[in-house]
Amino acid sequence: MKKPVIELSDCVLCEICTDYCPSVFRMNDAGFVEVLEMVEYPEEDVDEVIKNCLGDCIFWQEA
Ligand code: SF4
Repeated sequence: MKKPVIELSDCVLCEICTDYCPSVFRMNDAGFVEVLEMVEYPEEDVDEVIKNCLGDCIFWQEA
C-alpha cells in the first residue's frame, strides 16, 4: 500500500491539496497540512495534487 507524505519544511501552505482533495489532506489545528489515514488513497486525485502542489513537497511512500 502506498501513502502520500508531505515534506512539511517545503510546504508553502497554498492549500491546493486541502481544497482539491479534502478526503486525504487536512489543515490541522497547528496550521500544518496532514494526510488522513485511509485504507486506500485515490491515486488519480493525489497524483493531480502532487502535480499542482506549489511547494513540490508531496510524494508517494510505500507504507
Ligand atoms: S499543495 Fe503542497 S504546498 Fe500547498 S498546502 Fe498542500 S502540501 Fe503544502
